[in-house]
Amino acid sequence: MAVSCRNLLKTYGTLAALNDVSLAIRPNEFFTLLGPSGCGKTTLLRAIAGFVSLDGGSITVHGQRLDGLPPHKRPVNTVFQSYAVFPHMTVADNIAFGLEMERWPKRRITTRVEEMLRLVQLDGMAARKPAQLSGGQQQRVAVARALAKGPRVLLLDEPLSALDQKLRTGMQLELKRLQRETGITFVFVTHDQREALTMSDRIAVMNAGNVLQIGSPEEIYERPAARFVADFIGEMNFIPAEAAGGCRYRLATGLELDASEPASTGTPVTLAIRPERLRLGPISADSLAATVQETVYEGTDTIYYLAMTNGDRLRAREQNRSGSLPQFGVGDKVGLTLPACSIRVLTA
Ligand code: ATP
Repeated sequence: MAVSCRNLLKTYGTLAALNDVSLAIRPNEFFTLLGPSGCGKTTLLRAIAGFVSLDGGSITVHGQRLDGLPPHKRPVNTVFQSYAVFPHMTVADNIAFGLEMERWPKRRITTRVEEMLRLVQLDGMAARKPAQLSGGQQQRVAVARALAKGPRVLLLDEPLSALDQKLRTGMQLELKRLQRETGITFVFVTHDQREALTMSDRIAVMNAGNVLQIGSPEEIYERPAARFVADFIGEMNFIPAEAAGGCRYRLATGLELDASEPASTGTPVTLAIRPERLRLGPISADSLAATVQETVYEGTDTIYYLAMTNGDRLRAREQNRSGSLPQFGVGDKVGLTLPACSIRVLTA
């Protein structure tokens, strides 16, 4: 494993910022720690970097135990949220800084700086000062500087949060390319679920000091293991129901429908279904009756805000076809079809 965290514990007073966290990050993986503000993701990243001392547990990087090692002796490097490039130094000097500290020979430094400039596509900008660069270019200098020493693991603490949305999308692809080309394991922290889905090989979803689920973007999106994960990633409808035997469930409106997973008869469950998986059509015996309360045209999609007969609300998202207007309007009675394979059964 590139990084192994076992039973990590970090408390601040009575608050457990890391509450028995264990996870294993594979070599050459783009691994993301995702969760809301305060969930402990930065604490975990800083513990791997050596900036946070743990109250319990152990971390190894490629088999080497990191306990007691100061940050600069660890086989990892960090890119911080603020670009943290030195404003008075040129781009080349910024990238060379760490190598000079480690007393690399001059010729090797020159070659390495050129290699890094090519890697982050800043060739020709070696002599510029950070103030003469865009925000995205400054962030690339910070990444190049962190990669120059050849760490086995690169830790990235919300490195894109200072960039505007357009630049951010560009840098997301850029970082993914850098990770693929260098083969270095990236551990990336973000609170932005869309960013995590776009960039990661695997994601660890965290809340309140705990890791709730680890999986590929598809696994996390399609098969969320807990209500928090289902709610935090993308949009989700939650429908209370009772298990009626096998994979069958009874809703409060009396309708019975099938999901793809069983639960023992009588168990109260929550059925989770994504808005884009609900199908709107005419009312029929096996569809869920609802009334359209609001429609929102979003260009590619139309969002339907719906009320079931018992008053519970749902949201459906339908793709707009070119030239056609939304199928249904406010006040229309519709029948919703919920495909069994799209319904996740949550019991907790
Ligand atoms: P954010 O996205 O806002 O940075 P985060 O998920 O990275 O959030 P952490 O910074 O890891 O969260 O913090 C986890 C919890 O530990 C938070 O409740 C935070 O207030 C608390 N915490 C972090 N550092 C300290 C500290 N030095 N002293 C006291 N409490 C701290």
